Amino acid sequence: MEYEPATHTATDRTLGRLPSGASVTVTVHRYDGGTGPTVYVQAAQHGIELNGPAALRRLHDRLVDAELAGTVVVVPVVNSLAFDHRSYMTPAEYDVMNPNFNRVWPGDDEGSLQERLAAALWDLVTGADAAVDLHTGTADMLEHVRFRTDDSTARRLGEAFGTEYLLTDAPDGDDDSGTFRAAAARAGIPAITAELANSRRVAHSAVETGVEGVRNVLREVGVLDGRPTPAPDRTRLRDDPDATVATASGLFEPRPDVAVGDRVAAGEELGAVYCPSSFERRQTVTATDGGVAYSLTRESVVVAGERLASVARPV
Ligand SMILES: [Zn+2]
Repeated sequence: MEYEPATHTATDRTLGRLPSGASVTVTVHRYDGGTGPTVYVQAAQHGIELNGPAALRRLHDRLVDAELAGTVVVVPVVNSLAFDHRSYMTPAEYDVMNPNFNRVWPGDDEGSLQERLAAALWDLVTGADAAVDLHTGTADMLEHVRFRTDDSTARRLGEAFGTEYLLTDAPDGDDDSGTFRAAAARAGIPAITAELANSRRVAHSAVETGVEGVRNVLREVGVLDGRPTPAPDRTRLRDDPDATVATASGLFEPRPDVAVGDRVAAGEELGAVYCPSSFERRQTVTATDGGVAYSLTRESVVVAGERLASVARPV
Protein backbone atom coordinates (compact mmCIF):
# COMPACT_ATOMS: atom_id res chain seq x y z
CA MET A 1 0.00 0.00 0.00
CA GLU A 2 1.37 3.32 -1.04
CA TYR A 3 -0.68 6.53 -0.71
CA GLU A 4 -0.36 9.03 -3.55
CA PRO A 5 -2.46 12.03 -4.65
CA ALA A 6 -5.34 10.85 -6.81
CA THR A 7 -5.40 11.42 -10.55
CA HIS A 8 -8.96 11.75 -11.83
CA THR A 9 -10.23 10.98 -15.31
CA ALA A 10 -13.80 10.88 -16.64
CA THR A 11 -14.45 9.06 -19.89
CA ASP A 12 -17.58 8.12 -21.77
CA ARG A 13 -18.05 4.47 -22.58
CA THR A 14 -20.50 3.30 -25.24
CA LEU A 15 -22.52 0.33 -24.00
CA GLY A 16 -24.88 -0.24 -26.90
CA ARG A 17 -27.15 1.22 -29.54
CA LEU A 18 -30.81 2.15 -29.59
CA PRO A 19 -33.03 1.26 -32.56
CA SER A 20 -32.51 4.81 -33.91
CA GLY A 21 -28.77 4.28 -33.98
CA ALA A 22 -28.14 6.59 -31.03
CA SER A 23 -25.56 5.28 -28.57
CA VAL A 24 -26.19 4.42 -24.96
CA THR A 25 -23.20 5.70 -23.00
CA VAL A 26 -22.15 5.98 -19.38
CA THR A 27 -19.54 8.20 -17.77
CA VAL A 28 -16.79 6.27 -16.00
CA HIS A 29 -14.80 8.14 -13.36
CA ARG A 30 -11.43 6.78 -12.30
CA TYR A 31 -9.46 7.94 -9.30
CA ASP A 32 -5.97 6.46 -9.45
CA GLY A 33 -3.57 6.64 -6.53
CA GLY A 34 -0.58 4.54 -5.48
CA THR A 35 -0.42 0.76 -5.46
CA GLY A 36 -3.45 -0.91 -3.88
CA PRO A 37 -6.77 -2.58 -4.62
CA THR A 38 -9.45 -1.44 -7.07
CA VAL A 39 -13.01 -0.77 -5.91
CA TYR A 40 -15.89 -0.47 -8.38
CA VAL A 41 -18.91 1.63 -7.37
CA GLN A 42 -22.11 2.06 -9.40
CA ALA A 43 -25.53 3.63 -8.89
CA ALA A 44 -28.91 4.09 -10.55
CA GLN A 45 -29.62 0.68 -11.98
CA HIS A 46 -33.19 1.74 -11.22
CA GLY A 47 -34.17 5.12 -12.62
CA ILE A 48 -35.92 6.58 -9.56
CA GLU A 49 -33.07 5.82 -7.16
CA LEU A 50 -31.45 9.22 -7.00
CA ASN A 51 -29.49 9.17 -3.77
CA GLY A 52 -26.74 6.99 -5.24
CA PRO A 53 -25.74 9.46 -7.99
CA ALA A 54 -26.16 12.35 -5.53
CA ALA A 55 -23.81 10.58 -3.10
CA LEU A 56 -21.25 9.89 -5.82
CA ARG A 57 -21.07 13.57 -6.78
CA ARG A 58 -20.19 14.42 -3.18
CA LEU A 59 -17.78 11.49 -3.03
CA HIS A 60 -16.06 12.94 -6.11
CA ASP A 61 -15.31 16.15 -4.18
CA ARG A 62 -13.72 14.07 -1.43
CA LEU A 63 -11.68 11.85 -3.77
CA VAL A 64 -10.19 14.31 -6.27
CA ASP A 65 -7.78 15.71 -3.70
CA ALA A 66 -7.40 12.57 -1.60
CA GLU A 67 -4.34 10.42 -1.12
CA LEU A 68 -5.22 6.96 -2.37
CA ALA A 69 -3.56 3.55 -2.34
CA GLY A 70 -5.31 1.91 -5.25
CA THR A 71 -8.07 2.87 -7.64
CA VAL A 72 -11.75 3.79 -7.38
CA VAL A 73 -13.88 3.30 -10.49
CA VAL A 74 -17.29 5.01 -10.37
CA VAL A 75 -20.26 4.80 -12.76
CA PRO A 76 -22.85 7.20 -11.29
CA VAL A 77 -25.71 6.43 -13.68
CA VAL A 78 -25.57 2.86 -14.91
CA ASN A 79 -29.06 2.84 -16.43
CA SER A 80 -29.64 6.12 -18.28
CA LEU A 81 -32.73 4.70 -20.04
CA ALA A 82 -34.71 4.29 -16.81
CA PHE A 83 -33.19 7.44 -15.29
CA ASP A 84 -34.28 9.63 -18.21
CA HIS A 85 -37.78 8.16 -18.05
CA ARG A 86 -37.89 8.65 -14.26
CA SER A 87 -39.02 5.07 -13.92
CA TYR A 88 -37.87 2.24 -11.68
CA MET A 89 -37.72 -0.25 -14.53
CA THR A 90 -36.46 0.35 -18.03
CA PRO A 91 -39.39 1.03 -20.39
CA ALA A 92 -40.38 -2.16 -22.20
CA GLU A 93 -39.87 -0.39 -25.56
CA TYR A 94 -36.13 -0.78 -24.98
CA ASP A 95 -36.10 -4.31 -23.68
CA VAL A 96 -39.31 -6.28 -23.53
CA MET A 97 -37.43 -9.35 -22.24
CA ASN A 98 -35.53 -7.77 -19.36
CA PRO A 99 -37.06 -4.56 -17.99
CA ASN A 100 -35.18 -4.85 -14.67
CA PHE A 101 -31.50 -3.95 -15.08
CA ASN A 102 -30.69 -5.74 -11.86
CA ARG A 103 -31.70 -9.12 -13.31
CA VAL A 104 -29.39 -9.23 -16.34
CA TRP A 105 -25.91 -9.48 -14.81
CA PRO A 106 -23.27 -10.37 -15.95
CA GLY A 107 -24.97 -9.56 -19.25
CA ASP A 108 -24.66 -11.10 -22.68
CA ASP A 109 -23.08 -9.30 -25.63
CA GLU A 110 -25.42 -11.11 -28.00
CA GLY A 111 -28.52 -10.81 -25.83
CA SER A 112 -31.30 -8.26 -25.34
CA LEU A 113 -30.41 -4.56 -25.13
CA GLN A 114 -29.99 -4.48 -21.36
CA GLU A 115 -28.00 -7.70 -21.38
CA ARG A 116 -25.65 -6.05 -23.87
CA LEU A 117 -25.38 -2.90 -21.76
CA ALA A 118 -24.46 -4.92 -18.68
CA ALA A 119 -21.97 -7.03 -20.65
CA ALA A 120 -20.25 -3.83 -21.82
CA LEU A 121 -19.72 -2.81 -18.17
CA TRP A 122 -18.75 -6.18 -16.79
CA ASP A 123 -14.97 -5.88 -17.30
CA LEU A 124 -15.03 -2.94 -14.86
CA VAL A 125 -16.49 -5.28 -12.24
CA THR A 126 -14.19 -8.24 -12.87
CA GLY A 127 -11.22 -5.84 -12.90
CA ALA A 128 -12.06 -4.80 -9.33
CA ASP A 129 -11.27 -6.38 -5.98
CA ALA A 130 -14.58 -5.29 -4.46
CA ALA A 131 -17.83 -3.76 -5.69
CA VAL A 132 -20.51 -1.50 -4.21
CA ASP A 133 -23.95 -1.20 -5.85
CA LEU A 134 -25.92 1.81 -4.59
CA HIS A 135 -29.71 1.57 -4.57
CA THR A 136 -32.44 3.59 -2.91
CA GLY A 137 -35.44 2.00 -1.23
CA THR A 138 -38.85 3.53 -0.73
CA ALA A 139 -39.60 5.72 2.26
CA ASP A 140 -41.03 2.56 3.81
CA MET A 141 -37.86 0.51 3.68
CA LEU A 142 -35.23 0.47 6.40
CA GLU A 143 -31.88 1.75 5.23
CA HIS A 144 -29.65 -1.30 5.01
CA VAL A 145 -26.73 -3.03 3.35
CA ARG A 146 -27.16 -6.44 1.83
CA PHE A 147 -24.62 -9.15 1.12
CA ARG A 148 -24.39 -12.90 0.71
CA THR A 149 -24.38 -14.80 3.94
CA ASP A 150 -21.57 -17.16 2.91
CA ASP A 151 -19.19 -14.40 1.75
CA SER A 152 -17.07 -13.25 4.69
CA THR A 153 -15.28 -10.53 2.69
CA ALA A 154 -18.57 -9.02 1.54
CA ARG A 155 -19.78 -9.16 5.14
CA ARG A 156 -16.69 -7.23 6.26
CA LEU A 157 -17.39 -4.59 3.61
CA GLY A 158 -21.07 -4.47 4.57
CA GLU A 159 -20.23 -4.00 8.24
CA ALA A 160 -17.73 -1.29 7.31
CA PHE A 161 -20.32 0.60 5.21
CA GLY A 162 -21.97 1.53 8.48
CA THR A 163 -25.76 1.25 8.26
CA GLU A 164 -27.58 0.08 11.37
CA TYR A 165 -29.26 -2.81 9.57
CA LEU A 166 -27.35 -5.54 7.73
CA LEU A 167 -29.31 -8.00 5.64
CA THR A 168 -27.96 -11.31 4.47
CA ASP A 169 -29.38 -13.27 1.57
CA ALA A 170 -30.55 -16.78 2.23
CA PRO A 171 -27.52 -19.01 1.53
CA ASP A 172 -27.58 -20.23 -2.03
CA GLY A 173 -24.34 -21.21 -3.72
CA ASP A 174 -25.88 -21.30 -7.17
CA ASP A 175 -27.88 -18.09 -7.37
CA ASP A 176 -28.56 -17.29 -11.02
CA SER A 177 -31.11 -14.54 -10.32
CA GLY A 178 -29.11 -12.09 -12.44
CA THR A 179 -28.68 -9.56 -9.64
CA PHE A 180 -25.43 -7.64 -9.66
CA ARG A 181 -24.52 -9.01 -6.24
CA ALA A 182 -25.07 -12.64 -7.23
CA ALA A 183 -23.19 -12.30 -10.53
CA ALA A 184 -20.27 -10.57 -8.82
CA ALA A 185 -20.14 -13.32 -6.19
CA ARG A 186 -20.02 -15.96 -8.92
CA ALA A 187 -17.11 -14.10 -10.50
CA GLY A 188 -15.34 -14.07 -7.13
CA ILE A 189 -15.78 -10.32 -6.51
CA PRO A 190 -17.10 -9.49 -3.04
CA ALA A 191 -20.03 -7.14 -3.54
CA ILE A 192 -22.50 -5.30 -1.34
CA THR A 193 -25.80 -3.63 -2.17
CA ALA A 194 -26.64 -0.51 -0.19
CA GLU A 195 -30.33 0.39 0.04
CA LEU A 196 -30.31 4.06 1.01
CA ALA A 197 -33.58 5.61 2.14
CA ASN A 198 -36.12 7.45 0.01
CA SER A 199 -36.34 6.90 -3.72
CA ARG A 200 -37.73 9.52 -6.11
CA ARG A 201 -36.08 12.44 -4.33
CA VAL A 202 -32.66 13.46 -3.10
CA ALA A 203 -32.74 12.99 0.67
CA HIS A 204 -29.71 14.56 2.30
CA SER A 205 -29.36 12.11 5.18
CA ALA A 206 -29.51 9.18 2.75
CA VAL A 207 -26.93 10.88 0.54
CA GLU A 208 -24.63 11.36 3.54
CA THR A 209 -25.03 7.67 4.45
CA GLY A 210 -23.99 6.80 0.90
CA VAL A 211 -20.92 9.06 0.90
CA GLU A 212 -19.72 7.88 4.30
CA GLY A 213 -20.58 4.28 3.45
CA VAL A 214 -18.42 4.19 0.33
CA ARG A 215 -15.60 6.03 2.14
CA ASN A 216 -15.82 3.45 4.93
CA VAL A 217 -15.52 0.63 2.39
CA LEU A 218 -12.49 2.36 0.85
CA ARG A 219 -10.94 2.64 4.33
CA GLU A 220 -11.72 -1.01 5.06
CA VAL A 221 -9.78 -2.20 1.99
CA GLY A 222 -7.03 0.38 2.50
CA VAL A 223 -7.65 2.60 -0.57
CA LEU A 224 -8.27 5.45 1.88
CA ASP A 225 -6.18 5.76 5.01
CA GLY A 226 -7.87 5.34 8.41
CA ARG A 227 -10.44 3.05 9.94
CA PRO A 228 -14.13 2.84 9.01
CA THR A 229 -16.56 4.53 11.38
CA PRO A 230 -18.89 1.70 12.38
CA ALA A 231 -22.58 2.16 13.16
CA PRO A 232 -23.16 2.56 16.91
CA ASP A 233 -25.82 -0.17 16.83
CA ARG A 234 -25.92 -3.00 14.37
CA THR A 235 -28.72 -5.44 13.75
CA ARG A 236 -28.04 -8.32 11.44
CA LEU A 237 -31.08 -9.82 9.72
CA ARG A 238 -31.47 -12.85 7.52
CA ASP A 239 -33.87 -12.21 4.69
CA ASP A 240 -37.05 -14.22 4.63
CA PRO A 241 -37.38 -15.80 1.19
CA ASP A 242 -41.18 -15.88 1.60
CA ALA A 243 -42.19 -12.25 1.44
CA THR A 244 -45.76 -11.34 2.35
CA VAL A 245 -47.53 -10.83 -0.96
CA ALA A 246 -50.96 -9.77 -2.11
CA THR A 247 -53.14 -12.75 -3.00
CA ALA A 248 -55.90 -10.41 -4.21
CA SER A 249 -55.89 -7.16 -6.16
CA GLY A 250 -57.48 -4.02 -4.79
CA LEU A 251 -56.82 -1.19 -2.38
CA PHE A 252 -54.32 -2.03 0.34
CA GLU A 253 -54.73 -0.44 3.73
CA PRO A 254 -51.89 -1.29 6.10
CA ARG A 255 -52.37 -1.25 9.84
CA PRO A 256 -51.60 2.34 10.79
CA ASP A 257 -49.63 1.35 13.87
CA VAL A 258 -47.05 -0.83 12.09
CA ALA A 259 -43.86 0.82 10.81
CA VAL A 260 -40.57 -0.38 9.36
CA GLY A 261 -38.19 -1.41 12.11
CA ASP A 262 -41.02 -2.90 14.20
CA ARG A 263 -40.93 -6.48 15.36
CA VAL A 264 -43.84 -8.51 14.10
CA ALA A 265 -44.93 -12.06 14.92
CA ALA A 266 -45.58 -14.80 12.36
CA GLY A 267 -49.24 -14.61 11.39
CA GLU A 268 -49.68 -11.10 12.77
CA GLU A 269 -52.16 -8.99 10.83
CA LEU A 270 -50.45 -6.23 8.83
CA GLY A 271 -53.42 -4.83 6.95
CA ALA A 272 -56.10 -5.73 4.45
CA VAL A 273 -56.83 -5.58 0.73
CA TYR A 274 -60.32 -4.28 -0.10
CA CYS A 275 -62.28 -4.13 -3.32
CA PRO A 276 -62.83 -0.38 -3.77
CA SER A 277 -66.06 -0.99 -5.74
CA SER A 278 -67.90 -3.65 -3.72
CA PHE A 279 -66.23 -2.69 -0.37
CA GLU A 280 -65.55 -6.40 0.12
CA ARG A 281 -62.51 -7.41 2.17
CA ARG A 282 -60.47 -9.49 -0.26
CA GLN A 283 -57.46 -10.39 1.85
CA THR A 284 -56.41 -10.14 5.45
CA VAL A 285 -52.68 -9.62 5.10
CA THR A 286 -50.59 -11.44 7.68
CA ALA A 287 -46.83 -11.69 8.19
CA THR A 288 -45.47 -14.93 6.71
CA ASP A 289 -42.75 -15.00 9.33
CA GLY A 290 -41.78 -13.31 12.56
CA GLY A 291 -38.94 -10.80 12.79
CA VAL A 292 -38.18 -7.19 11.91
CA ALA A 293 -40.34 -5.59 9.21
CA TYR A 294 -37.77 -3.93 6.95
CA SER A 295 -40.06 -3.00 4.09
CA LEU A 296 -43.78 -2.22 4.04
CA THR A 297 -46.07 -1.10 1.25
CA ARG A 298 -48.09 1.97 2.20
CA GLU A 299 -51.70 2.71 1.27
CA SER A 300 -51.94 2.00 -2.44
CA VAL A 301 -53.47 0.04 -5.28
CA VAL A 302 -51.94 -3.42 -5.33
CA VAL A 303 -52.20 -6.35 -7.70
CA ALA A 304 -52.10 -10.03 -6.79
CA GLY A 305 -48.54 -11.27 -6.52
CA GLU A 306 -47.15 -7.90 -5.42
CA ARG A 307 -44.91 -7.78 -2.35
CA LEU A 308 -46.62 -6.05 0.58
CA ALA A 309 -44.13 -6.60 3.40
CA SER A 310 -40.69 -8.04 3.97
CA VAL A 311 -39.82 -9.41 7.36
CA ALA A 312 -36.34 -10.65 8.21
CA ARG A 313 -35.22 -12.72 11.17
CA PRO A 314 -32.55 -11.31 13.48
CA VAL A 315 -29.40 -13.47 13.59
ZN1 LIG B 1 -32.76 -0.53 -6.86
